[in-house]
Amino acid sequence: MQKLSVREARLESAIGQQARLQGWVRTRRDSKGGFSFIEINDGTCLANIQVIADAALPNYEDEVRHLTAGCSVTIDGEVKASGGKGQATELHAAAVTVHGLADPESYPLQKKRHSMEKLREWAHLRPRTNTFGAVMRVRNQVCRSVHDFFQEDGFLYLNTPIITASDCEGAGEMFRVTTLDPADPPRNDQGAVDYTQDFFDRPSFLTVSGQLEGEVYATALGKVYTFGPTFRAENSNTSRHLAEFWMVEPEVAFNDLEDNMDLAERFLKRVVTDVLENCEEDLDFFEQRIDKEVRERLGKIVAGGFARTTYTDAIAALESSGEAFEFPVSWGVDLQAEHERYLAEKLHGRPVIVHDYPATIKPFYMRVNDDGRTVRAMDVLAPGVGEIIGGSQREERLDVLESRMSEQGLNPDDYWWYLDLRRYGTVPHAGFGLGLERMVQFVTGMANIRDVIPFPRTPGNAEF
Ligand code: ATP
Ligand code: MG
Ligand code: MG
Ligand code: MG
Repeated sequence: MQKLSVREARLESAIGQQARLQGWVRTRRDSKGGFSFIEINDGTCLANIQVIADAALPNYEDEVRHLTAGCSVTIDGEVKASGGKGQATELHAAAVTVHGLADPESYPLQKKRHSMEKLREWAHLRPRTNTFGAVMRVRNQVCRSVHDFFQEDGFLYLNTPIITASDCEGAGEMFRVTTLDPADPPRNDQGAVDYTQDFFDRPSFLTVSGQLEGEVYATALGKVYTFGPTFRAENSNTSRHLAEFWMVEPEVAFNDLEDNMDLAERFLKRVVTDVLENCEEDLDFFEQRIDKEVRERLGKIVAGGFARTTYTDAIAALESSGEAFEFPVSWGVDLQAEHERYLAEKLHGRPVIVHDYPATIKPFYMRVNDDGRTVRAMDVLAPGVGEIIGGSQREERLDVLESRMSEQGLNPDDYWWYLDLRRYGTVPHAGFGLGLERMVQFVTGMANIRDVIPFPRTPGNAEF
C-alpha cells in the first residue's frame, strides 16, 4: 500500500489510487445511512481529507464510531472524486486502524476556538491547530528561502559559536554561561569571582549576534551568512522580543552602506515572493482569520522599492507629524516601536530603511561618518512589525575603532583578534541581521512573537 500525505491525496491526480493515509482526526460525523465522515489532518497542508468509513468495516461499531478529535489513525482505501464543496477528492476506507484515542473529556483541542494566550499553555499541543500548522509551514518556507537566496548568490553558510566572550551589541543583555557553583563561586584575593577556575577560563556568555565572527570570515572568504540562535536577556515583555530567537546575518567584504541596503531589499523581496508563491493556502487562512491586510502588505514589498530616509529626516518627520507619541522624539534618541510603525505605516505606507543614526545610540563597530556624529547604520522598518533588520557598514579603520571602543567602556585588549582584521589587510565591509521571528510575524500577520516560534523563551517561560 502506497503512503500518501493528505496534501498528495487531495490532488485530483490521486483519484483511483489505492492509498494509505495516516494522521489525526479533526471531526467525525455519522450519517443515518450507516457510514461516517471522518476529517483527517496530517499537517502537510491546512485542509483535511474526508474519509468515508462504512458500517461494514469490522471495527465500525467498536472503534470507528468512537473516534473523536485528536485520535490517531491509519486508513487504507481508495481515493475517489468527491462531490463535496472545497475538495476534489475523498478517501473510501477499506480498513481503519486506531493507534491512540484522545479522551474528549480532557483533550483541550476540541472544536472550541482558544485564544493565543491559552494555546501558549499547551505549547506541546498547539501545533495540532490550524493556526500553528500554518505558521510553521510558512516559517519553514522562510528558512528555506533564506538559504536559497544566499546560496544562489554565492554566499558561504557559516556556523558561528553559541558560547562567546564578546558582547557584540554592548547592550548588557547577555546570559552568562558558567560551570561554577553560583551559590559559592571561587573568589580571588579581591573577592571577585575567579573565572579562571571556570571551564571557559573567563566570563562567557550566550551569543547575542554572530556578527563579529562573521566579519572574521567575510574578510577572508568574501560573502558569508550565519543563521542560528541568538540570546538576549530582554527585560521587557513586548510582542516582538524573545529571549531566544533566530537571526540571519550576512556579512560582505568590500560592501558599503548602499550595497548593504540594496542587499537587504533584494533579500526581503525574494523571501516574500517565495512565500506568496508557495504558501497560498496558508496565506488565505491568515488573511481570513488573522490579518486581512497581510497579502496587500506582501504585495507592496514585491512591487515597489523601499523608502529610504536618513535618521535626521525621520526625526524631523516624526516631530512635525502631530502624532501623540508615548515617547517624545528628538535628535539623538533611539526610535521606539511606535515611531517605527508610524514611519512605515503612515508616512511611507511601505517598508522604509532609516540610515545614518547618531553614533551615541549605536554599537562601537559601526563606520563613523565624516561628520563625526553619525554612523553608517541602517534599520529596515516594516509595516505591522517595525524593525525587522538592523545593519551597518563596519568601521574598518583601526584607530577610529579603538577610540570608539574606549568611548563605550570596552577594553580593546579583549578584542585583539577583531582589531587584527583592521591591522592586516583591512577592507570596507558591511552586513545586517534579520530576526527570523519578526520576519515570520510580518508575512503571517501574527500579532505576538510568542506565536511564531515553536517554544517561546520569555521571562519566566522555559518549562518546555
Ligand atoms: P529592537 O530595537 O527591536 O530591540 P535591536 O535593535 O535591539 O531590536 P538588533 O541588535 O539590531 O536588534 O538585532 C537585529 C535584528 O534581530 C532586529 O532587527 C530584530 O529583527 C531581531 N531582534 C532583535 N532583538 C530581538 C528579540 N529580543 N527577539 C526577537 N528578535 C529580535
Ligand atoms: Mg533591542
Ligand atoms: Mg533597534
Ligand atoms: Mg537594531
